[in-house]
Amino acid sequence: MEIPIEVVSDEKGYFDRECPHEECEFVFKIYILDWKNKVSDEKVYCPRCGHTAPSDSWWTQGQLDSMRDIARQWAINEVQKTIHESFKKISRNSNKYVNIKYKPGKRISFQNNPIGQLEEWELIITCEQCETKTSVIGTAYFCPCCGHNSVDRVFNESIGRIENQLNSLDEMQGILQEIYNKDTSTNMVQNIIETSLKEIISAFQKFAFESFKKNCKKTVRPNDFQIVYKGSNLFRDYYEVSYEEWLTNEEIDFLNLMFQRRHLLEHNNGMVDDMYLNKSNDTTYRVGQRLVSKKEYVIKLLKVIKKLSEGIHKTTNLNLN
Ligand SMILES: [Zn+2]
Ligand SMILES: [Zn+2]
Ligand SMILES: [Zn+2]
Repeated sequence: MEIPIEVVSDEKGYFDRECPHEECEFVFKIYILDWKNKVSDEKVYCPRCGHTAPSDSWWTQGQLDSMRDIARQWAINEVQKTIHESFKKISRNSNKYVNIKYKPGKRISFQNNPIGQLEEWELIITCEQCETKTSVIGTAYFCPCCGHNSVDRVFNESIGRIENQLNSLDEMQGILQEIYNKDTSTNMVQNIIETSLKEIISAFQKFAFESFKKNCKKTVRPNDFQIVYKGSNLFRDYYEVSYEEWLTNEEIDFLNLMFQRRHLLEHNNGMVDDMYLNKSNDTTYRVGQRLVSKKEYVIKLLKVIKKLSEGIHKTTNLNLN
């Protein structure tokens, strides 16, 4: 027994899929011809969490519901056909004592309704490696077909998200203040600013590390890019351009200050110590104080990081051979 099922794409040609990993369940869209022709049966990658599973385990809840409905309809239809046939036999075999007539009413006809799709989404990602097209809401890290993780795209998305967050701080403060008191809402906003500072630097660190490896065989660690002069020297030694190529001295000093602050926030909960003062040359604090992250600083940090990462992007994408 085989129930015929037809799968169709949305208007743009995309097809819904859902990650089978129970903590993820990320729903994404993939270009239906890529799904049919490129993606392997054995291994499909979740764009969000990177989980891999065979190609038959990516049905969305909606698609499974539709398929169950189709199967139910199909079964009803088959049963009715059988009943109809058997009654026809009886009436044909009827004798003079028995006269059975069966008039079939309107049968439910089995239509293979195409399995529903969510409406089309705006963001379309084309894999740099295999050109598979995916469409997502939110952040995607991996290509479903080859598992490729695009450093540039992920970095740009993270930075964009943090930028939006910083730009909506006043609005957020207003909303939070209606729910909580002024004290709590101010703390929450301060927390967002501090988190943004950490996030910008860790996104950059990952970006610089991955970019560095693009055209260079030297073994480096992500932590090498957590310290401004170390990262700069690596690029100077292996790509012949240091951060000075892209940033002013003032910007480099500022970057160093922010990187040191991030370090202090991560490892000493922002409590100023001697080591921090020595490494950062920060004269605005003394030992024992707690750092306060200002919005203006974080916005400036974002700008400087964007400038620096553009330079790194250009340099590491040049073919050096
Ligand atoms: Zn997933
Ligand atoms: Zn790919
Ligand atoms: Zn690029």
